[in-house]
Order: sequence, then structure tokens, then C-alpha cells
Amino acid sequence: MESKNYAPGILQYIPFFYVIWSDDLLSASEIAIIKKALENDDSLLDQQRKTLKSWLKRTAPPADLEFKHWKRTISRSKVKLIESETYPLTAFSQKLVCHYYEECPFNAQLKYIETNLGIQPNHYNHLFDVEVVHARTSNYYDANELDHILKGKHAETIDTFRSFLEQPSFKWKIHRNKDQFRNVVLDQVKLLGDSGYGAMAFQEAYGGSDDMEGYAAIFENLMYVDGSLTIKFGVQFGLFGGSIQKLGTKEHHDLYLKPAGEAQLLGCFAMTETGHGSNVRGIKTTATHDPATDEIIIHTPGKNDNKEYIGNALHATMATVFAQLIVNGKNEGVHAILVPLRDKDHRLLAGIHVEDNGYKLGLNGVDNGKIWFDQVRVPRKNLLNKYGNILDDGTYHSHIKNPNKRFFTMLGTLVGGRICVARAGLGGAKFALTVAIRHALRRRQFNDSIKIQEDLLMDYPSHQLRLTPLVASAYVYHIVLEKIMGAYCTAEGEDTREVETQVAGLKSLITWYANSTIQECREACGGKGYLLENRIADLRGDVDIFTTFEGDNTVLLQLAAKGVLADFKTEFNSAGFASVLKLLGTQLGDRLSAINPAYTRKTDAEHLYDSKFHKHAFNYRTRRLTYTLALRIRDQIKKGVPSYQAFLKVQTHLLALGKAYSTELAYNLFSEFTMTIADEKNRSLFQKLGTLHALYEIRKDAEWFLEQGYLSGTKSKAIRQRVERLCTELRPHVEILVGGFGIPEHCMTAPIAF
Ligand SMILES: Cc1cc2nc3c(=O)[nH]c(=O)nc-3n(C[C@H](O)[C@H](O)[C@H](O)COP(=O)(O)OP(=O)(O)OC[C@H]3O[C@@H](n4cnc5c(N)ncnc54)[C@H](O)[C@@H]3O)c2cc1C
Repeated sequence: MESKNYAPGILQYIPFFYVIWSDDLLSASEIAIIKKALENDDSLLDQQRKTLKSWLKRTAPPADLEFKHWKRTISRSKVKLIESETYPLTAFSQKLVCHYYEECPFNAQLKYIETNLGIQPNHYNHLFDVEVVHARTSNYYDANELDHILKGKHAETIDTFRSFLEQPSFKWKIHRNKDQFRNVVLDQVKLLGDSGYGAMAFQEAYGGSDDMEGYAAIFENLMYVDGSLTIKFGVQFGLFGGSIQKLGTKEHHDLYLKPAGEAQLLGCFAMTETGHGSNVRGIKTTATHDPATDEIIIHTPGKNDNKEYIGNALHATMATVFAQLIVNGKNEGVHAILVPLRDKDHRLLAGIHVEDNGYKLGLNGVDNGKIWFDQVRVPRKNLLNKYGNILDDGTYHSHIKNPNKRFFTMLGTLVGGRICVARAGLGGAKFALTVAIRHALRRRQFNDSIKIQEDLLMDYPSHQLRLTPLVASAYVYHIVLEKIMGAYCTAEGEDTREVETQVAGLKSLITWYANSTIQECREACGGKGYLLENRIADLRGDVDIFTTFEGDNTVLLQLAAKGVLADFKTEFNSAGFASVLKLLGTQLGDRLSAINPAYTRKTDAEHLYDSKFHKHAFNYRTRRLTYTLALRIRDQIKKGVPSYQAFLKVQTHLLALGKAYSTELAYNLFSEFTMTIADEKNRSLFQKLGTLHALYEIRKDAEWFLEQGYLSGTKSKAIRQRVERLCTELRPHVEILVGGFGIPEHCMTAPIAF
């Protein structure tokens, strides 16, 4: 094939047209940008402008032969594409003109197209048969700025804490012996307690700074040291200390909070039993008031009624024991009682038996164990009596009359722990992503036979698609957990219930995300990801259980869904259900039935990148699932099925609603936050991350959206293409993005990350 000689005016646009037409997503807005550049380009003759415009018709794309001429003109030039240039494609075009002609001035209109279309070298470098000089990363964004945005108002606390972790005691090591490992972790916890970090969430009078939000932030950062340390820290200060703080009254605070916060008094949180885990209300341990001695007798009545999996069981001198409180022969429901376990020489007290739970899948630095109580007597004042008390006259009193409400109020005070577990899961995911991405920016595998150097893993579109949306989601979930902790700390009255519903859903969503992310990172690192030294293996074992403790995810999601339905709960159980449905119908019906066919087929970039579209899609899914769920429950109730059974019949629907609701909530919280970022460059980056997260989430559930007719097949396909495109657009910035997580270098011990 003869190559065609293009005039310089045309020639300079050829690389651009070649790239644009190779990307089958050419949209009306992209064409408008190019047309504008052509209009403003004084270097063009009228005829040249006309020719170039004729190549912009979506209905009549340039002929294949023209396309081949473009390609040949480019490859014959042997011009190098230098990715690290500020405007690589503009510079490439300029050099192409220089190859064929003497003069080749810089053309500002080309730069205009390159920046406004956001064309990145990794979109097109594979298209040219030319040598590409790769840049591993771009420094367009600044990791410190991103880290600063994520740290928010806790910047000072977090920075000080990260420096604190530099001391040798926190150096990560491989431990294969659980007893030695537990001692190392115990010493670390004591050091943290001694340095004031354990008490952070307590009031000043007890050595703290009343800073639960700061506590959650440092909790996440502990994951960069070790998962076992994080969880033991959480058990000692969050669960044991937190139960005294939230369920106890001043006398308990004065006696125990300070030593608990300093880790002088080691404690555990004994709720779960072998026989009862998720169903806390069904626990069998009894706490019977004996009016004769004014003591409470703690007892394990039968086989499988022992406490199990209790963290700190082997090191603790005291336990917060959850038991059925029996006063004057009446069961007043589950309450918490402080029970000493060991004497000052660490010997078990009479009537108490403890056994080690042994080796676990992960978290082997935490001493989980089983505990039995045989008629163990403690003074009446050991009852943590904020919500239910035994008075001096031996009668029971609570200001919350409804036992159901009392139970949920007590458990609700521990919701902060759920947020912290999600935070820790997120910390694990961020760590794994940082290791995997840094590795992918160093590791090379395969090339075509022309190139000497093999390609970086990170330059494979599949690798970009595997990891980049997960990085975007880490940013989203970080902000979400910050916001939800803020809401939890300030919620009062009715708002408390709403926050609890939200936390139940978000904890599930984020700990599942953390697990799948860590697994993806393990695989993305190949064999190296399997080695303990690279940390991902331990993270996988440690974070796994986050889906189960502090509330099993499947159980929590149902709680979240029921929370969504809660406003209609009483009506579900009564004859007035029809009116509820009517209400739901008027709220939901119009919006649900009126999906315009043109909307379901809309595939242009503006629409797909518009947060209004994402919000609408998530909201539509939540509303439709709520509405159809309500209809199904109504049908059951109409048939006379009792409400417990009716809910069982729609259980999988409830789970779908729980997920949909939490996904919508997460996106909305993040989206609102992005509007508050003052700096425009970083704001648009955060918005782009939100867009990638949203489109990725919609794609994940494309099956449902297609079933409902909310998306047409072409729109679903366009979303997939946009996800891939966003991943490649973010490719040059991915190292900076994981740098923005702010994981201190002294914690980043994985050899493959260097
Ligand atoms: C390492 C570790 C540390 C722990 N630390 C502590 C601690 O310090 N203190 C403490 O009190 N507890 C602790 N736990 C216990 C933990 O909180 C429980 O394991 C958890 O609450 C789940 O209870 P379970 O194991 O009995 O599982 P189950 O409740 O038996 O659940 C088993 C499975 O059944 C499913 N399931 C249960 N109910 C339903 C339902 N209604 N609908 C649908 N599916 C359902 C669940 O999704 C789950 O998949 C710890 C556990 C571990 C493993």
C-alpha cells in the first residue's frame, strides 16, 4: 500500500483522529470539543478544516483505507511516544509533523483537545506501532494532599499516631507460635494504653479526650501494624472499656475506666456462647440476684452455654459478662455484669474455668477462649446499671419499660465497635491494594516480540480493571465511615435508630468489600502475594472474620432492611396494611413506573458520568425493592401467615434491599462530601473516583437493572466500557492514589512494595 502525503495542517491532527476513532465511545460532546478546536485553529486552511470536519461524522466514519493511511503515516515516522511529556499526544503530533516537514510549531488547539477529552497515553499507546517510553506514574496529583483530605479534622491526631508507630515494638514480624505472638501483642496493647491511646474515647476525667472519631481513625491505622494488635486493642478498650463507659454509671467509671484505658486492668467482653452467637437474646448464662447476700450469682447452666471465642480470655482479670438477669424470680432480659476472673497473681478465681480456643484462621495474636461460670458470686453493684438496675430494696427498675426496647438500647450503645471493625477492614484493604499496586508498577511480564522490555502488570487493562475500582471504593468507604461515625457520635433520640440501621448495612457492605479486595490483591501479586512476608496472606486470614464478629453480615443486612421498613412495621402486623401500601404506592409508584425508554437507552458520557444518574439508579433500586417487598409481605399477611414467618419467606428479598439501601447510602454520603472539597483539581479527582465506584456498582448488579428494564442492553454495555475507560484514565495516577491512603513507610514492610 502506498502511503498518502498529508499536508502539515491535516497531518498534525492524524494521531488525534486515529485515537478518537479507535475509541468506539466517540460522543456528541467529544465531537463538539474537536469541532471547537478546528474552528479556533488559525493554522488550518478552509479546505483542510472541511476535510477534518468530514472525518467527524458518527454516521459516516472515515473509510478503512483512510484509517490504514493514518496508521502507516504514523508508524513510518518512527517517532517515539513519550508518556511522561506534559501533553504526550500533542508533542507526538508535533514530532510527527517535524519528521515529514521542516516546520512544526506547537499547536495550542491540539493541547485543548488532549486536555478536554482527558486522553491518557495508556488509552492509545497500544494503537501505534511505535516505541513507547513508559512513565510509571504521573505527579499531576499529590499524595499528601489526598491523604490530608482523607484525614480531615483528625490530621494532627493521625500524624502523631503514625509517627508513634515507628518505634521498634511495632515492627511487623512473622509469628508462627500463638503463645509468643500473643505476648508480643499484649505488650503492644499495654504500650498503647500507657501512651494514652486506649482511653481516647473516654472522658477527660478518665484519661481520655472524648474523641471516639479520632479513636476510630487510629484503629484503622493499627491495621498497618498488625490485625491481631488491632483486634486486641478493640477488645480491651472498645469492647471491655466501652461496655463500662456506655452501660455502666459513675461508680463503675470511677473505679474501672482509668485502669481499663491504661491497660492496667485487662478485660474481656463475654457475650457469645457456644450455643448462641447471632441470637444474643437467646443466651443462657444466668445472673440471679440473691437478696440474702445482695449478690448476683453468675452461672453457666448447661452444655454449650459457656462463653466462646472471647478475646482476651487468657489475659483478662475481669469480664463484662452478658447474662439473663433474674430478680425476684423474674427474668428481666439480657444485662451486663462485671465479673472478676483472676486474682493479682493471674490465677483463676473459684468457679471460673477458661479454655483456649487454640489456633485460628487468622488473628493468632489474640487469645480467644471459652469461659464457664459455676455459681460465681459478685456484688450487686457490679451490674452495669445504666439501663436496668437492682435497687437497694431488691427490686428491679429500668426507665425503659419495654424490655425489647431496653435490649436494643443496650446493644445500640455498642454500635461504635461495628464502625471500627469496618474501618479496620478498610485499613486491611488499603494495605493490600498498596502492596498489589506498587508491585504491579514494578513487575514486568510478557511483551510483543518488538519490544525489548516486558510490560508492567499495571499496564494490562485487566489489571487496571481488577484493582482501580477497588481503589476508588476505598476512597468512597473511607469518607462514608468518617461520616457515619460523626453521625453516631452526635445522634440523639429517633436519629439513633436510623444510624444503627445505617451502620448495620455499611458494616456488612464494607467488610465484604475488604475481603474480596484482599483476595483480588493476593491474586494480582501472583506467587509473591502468597508469601507471608508480603503481608496480604495475614490480612486475608485476619480480615476474614470481620464479616462475622460485631454482628454477622447476613444477620445485620436483614436488620438494615427491617430498619428501612420500620416506619411501616406496626401496620405490617395490623389490618391497616392496605393504607401503608397506599402510602408506599404514592411515594414510589409514580417514579417506579415512569422510566422513560429514552432514559434506559441514554449512553452519552455526560449522562453516564452524571451523579444524578447514579443517584437515580441506586434510589430506584432501593425503592423498587422496598415496594415489592412490602407487596410480598402483605400477600403473606393477607393469607394469615404470622409476621415472623412472613419475613422468613421474603428473606432473600430483605437481603437484597439491605444491600441496595447501604450502597445508595454510601454513594450519597460520598457524593455530598465531594462538593465540600475546596480545591477544584482534587474535587474533580474525588468526583471521578465516585463515578467509577458508582458505575462499577451498577455494573455489578446489571442483571437486576436489565431485568427491571431500567437499563437497555446497550446502556449496560456502555457502562462497562466507561468503567474500563475510567480505569485507564486513572492508570497514571494509581500510585499517587494508593499513596493518598497515607500508610507510613515504616509500616509498609512488604518487600514486593519496593
Ligand atoms: C475470632 C473471633 C473473635 C470473637 N470475639 C468475641 C468476643 O470478644 N466477644 C464475644 O462475645 N464474641 C466474640 N466472637 C463471637 C462472634 O461475635 C460470633 O461468632 C458471631 O456473633 C456469630 O455467631 P456464631 O458464631 O454463633 O454464628 P451463628 O449465629 O451460628 O451463624 C452461623 C451462620 O448462620 C447464619 N445465620 C444465623 N442466623 C441467621 C438468620 N437469622 N438468617 C440467616 N442466616 C443466619 C449466619 O449468617 C452465619 O453464616 C468472636 C468470634 C471469633 C471467631
